[in-house]
Amino acid sequence: MNKELGTLYIVATPIGNLEDITLRALRILSEVSLVLCEDTRHTKILFGRHNIHAKTESYHAHSTEAKLHSIAEKLERGDNLALVSDAGTPLISDPGSPLITYLRKRFGSELRIVPIPGASALTTALSVIPVSGGRFTFLGFLPHKKGRQTVIKAMREAQDAQVCYESSHRIVKLMKELEELYPEAHVWIARELTKQFEEVLEGTPLELRTILETTPEKQKGEFVVVVEK
Ligand code: SAM
Repeated sequence: MNKELGTLYIVATPIGNLEDITLRALRILSEVSLVLCEDTRHTKILFGRHNIHAKTESYHAHSTEAKLHSIAEKLERGDNLALVSDAGTPLISDPGSPLITYLRKRFGSELRIVPIPGASALTTALSVIPVSGGRFTFLGFLPHKKGRQTVIKAMREAQDAQVCYESSHRIVKLMKELEELYPEAHVWIARELTKQFEEVLEGTPLELRTILETTPEKQKGEFVVVVEK
């Protein structure tokens, strides 16, 4: 007799403040047989804070086909699994899409893939940045080189707010690019959300670049950039 398939839970974890996790997420992470982590060391910090002793294994952007196969076999055995990324919601600019595509192809709708919602830098930023009409386009990370200028130029033409993730290495560069290609833009920078140095800055690209350059510590950390309409 075929064993019933296990369930895969896609679990959102905090984006900084380790208290930002739901009761349901904590329960699921404690109950599953295995938690697939982008980086097991990172997730263990969260587990330590919440006294979770689940078994962990890595699943990340460079995981092989063999890894997908072995995850599928565990589900076939009836194991319940959870997937987490280092921060926020898996699949939102984070690993997970190839795994879900593979499992859907292999098991179709037989397999339960259950979202356990929680923090994401995207929704956290937009919960304090009032974009007009509540309409926005999420661009994820902009291309680093090829196509970057095209995407930035398109921001100017867009009808709704444009939201992207940016790293500390390129936040000043992005303000310079906007200054050149879209100088009148109304820009918000949400930095280090939920963490000690959390702040939300608002201004033109020139104003924001000036702030970042005159206060270099503000260039550190993680950023969500919103270009208003
Ligand atoms: N899956 C995550 C989510 O749901 O937000 C996003 C992961 S992506 C690899 C990491 C990027 O998200 C960072 O480079 C930054 O742009 C943004 N981010 C993550 N945590 C953040 C925070 N605490 N404050 C601002 N931006 C953050």
